Amino acid sequence: MQNQIFAIAVDGPAGAGKSTIARLAAERLGFIYVDTGAMYRAIALFCLRQGIRPEDEKEVSSGIAEAQITIRHQNGTQRVLLNGEDVSGQIRTEEVGKTASAVSAYPAVRAHLLGLQRGLAASASVIMDGRDIGTCVLPKAQAKIFLTASPKVRAMRRFKELKEKGEMCNLQEIEQDIIERDQRDKNRAIAPLKQAEDAILVDGSDMSIDQVVSAIIEVAKTRGLLVR
Ligand code: C5P
Repeated sequence: MQNQIFAIAVDGPAGAGKSTIARLAAERLGFIYVDTGAMYRAIALFCLRQGIRPEDEKEVSSGIAEAQITIRHQNGTQRVLLNGEDVSGQIRTEEVGKTASAVSAYPAVRAHLLGLQRGLAASASVIMDGRDIGTCVLPKAQAKIFLTASPKVRAMRRFKELKEKGEMCNLQEIEQDIIERDQRDKNRAIAPLKQAEDAILVDGSDMSIDQVVSAIIEVAKTRGLLVR
């Protein structure tokens, strides 16, 4: 029985499967799953709705003062609220994802969400996924995983997902988009996507979901997590 709060940080590029894996690992461990990408997406949705131009850092930085993001957990599922409205479904579009990638490069946006992220980890054992959790948000997380997969594998997964939703898509364009988003996330000046020094690299390209979940739990055990 764990009697102390434990934090698992899962970082990695878009489409590596972080959210699926982190959600399942949280379920198995009885932890709270925190998807920080959803918070950036909610900010992006706010900008799109308000007509705030994502490329204008000043406009975004001052505009987001009016965007209050809160997180609720319902039956183990994270819901994201934007000024009290549940926008969990509406943030899952390509347009919102692209806008999130652009506005997340601004220090004011990151500062706006940091307190919320740290507060969640201070209140319960969490598995938190994002880009900078192990490096910036929770540098003292007991276990850190950097989850990756090749751009081809990630593009193929995304392609299947969009097809299932009945959306028109092109595999090459998706792969190109993934490569560009990786570049933006890796090269930004603040909180770039980067493996923390004490993070374990897991390449899930040729692994099943279950194998990756087990690998993450094993890492947590080696870092002191007691599992009954
Ligand atoms: O993970 P997801 O694709 O939902 O994240 C959307 C965007 O939010 C990412 O492309 C990334 O630019 C940004 N993000 C971030 N830091 C995090 C989580 C997401 O900059 N911790």
